[in-house]
Amino acid sequence: MNSNGAIRIGFYICHCGTNIAGVIDVDAVAAYAASLPGVVLSRDYKYMCSDPGQDLIAQDIREQGLNRIVVASCSPLLHERTFRGAVERGGLNPFLVHMVNIREHGSWVHEDGGLATTKAMDLVRAAVRRVVHHIPLERSRVPVHPDVLVVGGGIAGIHAALTLAAAGKKVTLVEREPSIGGHMAQFDKTFPTLDCAACILTPKMTAVKAHPNITLWTYSEVTAVKGSVGNFTVTVKRKPRYIREDLCVGCLECIDACIYKDGKFADEFNLGLSKRKPIYVPFPQAVPAVPVVDPEHCVHLKTGKCKDLCVQICAERNAFDFDQQPEFIDITVGAVILATGFTTFDAKRIPYYGYGVYPNVYTALEAERLVNASGPTGGEIVLPDGRAPASVAIVHCVGSRDADYNRWCSRVCCMYSLKLAHLIQEHTKAEIYNFYIDMRSAGKSMEEFYNRVSEEGVHLIRGRVADIYPETANGKDGHIGRVIVQAEDTLIGRIRKIPVDMVILSVGLQPQDDAEDVRRMFNISCSAGGFFLERHPKLAPVNTFTDGIYLAGACQGPKDIPDAVAQAGAAAAEALALIDAGFVELEPNTAYVMEEECSGCKSCIPLCPYSAISFAEDVLKATINAVLCKGCGTCVASCPSASIRQHLFEDAQIFSEIEGLLTHA
Ligand code: SF4
Ligand code: SF4
Ligand code: SF4
Repeated sequence: MNSNGAIRIGFYICHCGTNIAGVIDVDAVAAYAASLPGVVLSRDYKYMCSDPGQDLIAQDIREQGLNRIVVASCSPLLHERTFRGAVERGGLNPFLVHMVNIREHGSWVHEDGGLATTKAMDLVRAAVRRVVHHIPLERSRVPVHPDVLVVGGGIAGIHAALTLAAAGKKVTLVEREPSIGGHMAQFDKTFPTLDCAACILTPKMTAVKAHPNITLWTYSEVTAVKGSVGNFTVTVKRKPRYIREDLCVGCLECIDACIYKDGKFADEFNLGLSKRKPIYVPFPQAVPAVPVVDPEHCVHLKTGKCKDLCVQICAERNAFDFDQQPEFIDITVGAVILATGFTTFDAKRIPYYGYGVYPNVYTALEAERLVNASGPTGGEIVLPDGRAPASVAIVHCVGSRDADYNRWCSRVCCMYSLKLAHLIQEHTKAEIYNFYIDMRSAGKSMEEFYNRVSEEGVHLIRGRVADIYPETANGKDGHIGRVIVQAEDTLIGRIRKIPVDMVILSVGLQPQDDAEDVRRMFNISCSAGGFFLERHPKLAPVNTFTDGIYLAGACQGPKDIPDAVAQAGAAAAEALALIDAGFVELEPNTAYVMEEECSGCKSCIPLCPYSAISFAEDVLKATINAVLCKGCGTCVASCPSASIRQHLFEDAQIFSEIEGLLTHA
């Protein structure tokens, strides 16, 4: 109100180029707004969010004594902050402005300009009535804890942790497997440069272990998260390795000493293509290079009846501790980066591809292990009967771009399929047939790589594989029989049936099996396919809708290594910006309890999704922690005695708005 207490509303309508003005008659809406009670000034402008548009508001506030502002433009999600800033620069409290969304709710969704204009007038009338009841509010500040948690020790998590550590921040990196490295550690060479994955990854893994600012907790999982931006309390479960990391020197003599002279149990890292002992390191370059004892198969842990040769050989270091129990540790961090990665599509879900039925049908990840010198065959591409294949089919898009399974393109399969074609041809001189739907080779040097592989004589057949079936029964001599790969070659319009010795299924990428649990724990959202949802696909691709939680790598969607690394750097930069600011400003749209009206029934407490409500035993009333409250309104709607209110959603504001909508002036 001005000095004599009168409400003086300034109204502004934005053309948004032709986005709004192409459908809605902005002149008519501006003229209508000028006629509404309390409106002393009404303007239209081509781009209200531009600097001149904002200056117009600030100047009018100063010169015309405006004390309430209504802006009819786009979604508040995009520009509420902009207009609050403009109002503040004009000397007014920033919460005395209200936006009307006549673009997403108007011009973009209505074809009839006349009706859209009428609707805009209705919305403006409601906003003008509402803004009268706005009161000045203040943002509060909370300090930000300087440490960061990174969840997931694949290449994205590793890069994010190293970036933050290099900036002087203390980082805890939590990885659930016994070693960091993720999927990249399983790959042989990386496309399109064909550099050895381990050669470029292991220096970064070692750097993580060595960095004084990084606490590395492998074989560990986050089990609970409390708090909010700037101050998260995270509980981490450290699973027992039965070997003390602080005492083990990584000599691996205990593995040799184990009573199992050879591997007996499926080796997870090699996807079951080899066997391991009950005490093992997942792969030679594992970080930390500390063995882990598998309680399901270790004789000591199962029966207590073992000669404990492993313990004996370690007597000097005394690193064994079979009494270890799971440990739960709470840490406090200001920001979290989720880099929990992906899993691959289960090829058994497409029965006609014969995975798990025919011994010569492999997944691409299994092929990566076969072609790798440290893999189960020492880098030899051989069939289970020991022969090298003379012909290999590589089937693209398995489980991707398929309405029956995953609709999305997994982005990396075309290129890794070409890479495998190149590597297998190099190793075996086999005839290679790649069956593809579309060849997607976008990105730096990818098209050149595609051209290179096609010039190497790999057969590229455009057609989705419809069936894979045995050519003959397996030979009496134990030879694995060939299979026929059938597809319609859409370039020549013919069905092709090609007999091959080996098939590789290029399985797509999909969210981790527990992505939904992780999503709930960190209170973030998922997109339709189950990958974690970014705040904005273009403008906030590593942010989530929960402040202080950022995304890196394939947990946000399929991506290759360069993109995962770039995103990890971006997530680290966002976390740094938050931490280095030292505080976060909290919006004041929080709920509050009218103490004198609260009956103390406690029914609101379990309803709050952010655990913001507690019970004050001294006064027997509910109380809301404004730092934790996200203003979702759940408690406001649920309180049986209507004793919870919410700033910016006060009854007077909402009822006036509704009246404005329903009252035709
Ligand atoms: Fe060596 Fe002992 Fe560690 Fe085994 S537990 S790797 S024997 S130090
Ligand atoms: Fe108080 Fe309402 Fe919460 Fe009951 S629901 S404790 S009355 S604020
Ligand atoms: Fe919790 Fe109520 Fe705030 Fe929602 S509005 S976050 S339910 S306190």
